[in-house]
Amino acid sequence: MKVFGAGLIVLSTAITACAEGADDFVTANLASVLYHELGHAVIDQLQLPIFGQEEDAADVLSVLLINRMYDEETAKAVAYDAAFGFSAEASDVEQPVFWDTHGPDEQRYFNLICLFYGANVDARHDLAQELMLPDERALSCEEEFVIAEDSWGPVLDEMGDLQGKLVFQASSDGFMSAFLQDEVSALNDRYRFPIDIPVALESCGEANAYYDLDAQKITICQEFEDHLRGQFDRF
Ligand SMILES: [Zn+2]
Repeated sequence: MKVFGAGLIVLSTAITACAEGADDFVTANLASVLYHELGHAVIDQLQLPIFGQEEDAADVLSVLLINRMYDEETAKAVAYDAAFGFSAEASDVEQPVFWDTHGPDEQRYFNLICLFYGANVDARHDLAQELMLPDERALSCEEEFVIAEDSWGPVLDEMGDLQGKLVFQASSDGFMSAFLQDEVSALNDRYRFPIDIPVALESCGEANAYYDLDAQKITICQEFEDHLRGQFDRF
């Protein structure tokens, strides 16, 4: 039995009505995941203090970068599909794993929507409603965004003086490779990093992505594409 089953049926109906296509769903979630892993990399390499769970801090950076990296319409589409990604993951688990370092996927779903909505409440009111952000939470989202920007904003600004770049590595060409190469290039145009950080697209035997603390390297697993396409097809 799915604990969140009823809620997800409503949610997935709304999402299916608006998700534009499988390719967009895949790229939105790849961007969201890449930005999240970048959060781990920056936290590690700049030794940033984290007052809370690091996974939450990485999620916050991911939303801030979605907000910063794209024009309004694209950012809305990316946030929408990335939220849908959390919703799809939530439907895969019978019960939320409360001991995990990541928050439950349904909570990550609402955190993403709230922060993204809080960045531009006038332009994103319809999106928040469509994605069923409750009024009780919506009230605090603008303030939540201000706190997030006050926390990550100065870090991102200071990164302009650094010398390191993201270095994309892929063993083969393809849809994911082309997208990630463009993303890495766009990130390098706007930000610098403490050191050169490899962003490797690799086959890992699982649909995952991670930042390796020892190698100081971001790995996005090739298997993610099929996993995301499967999630999209299920809704
Ligand atoms: Zn993480």
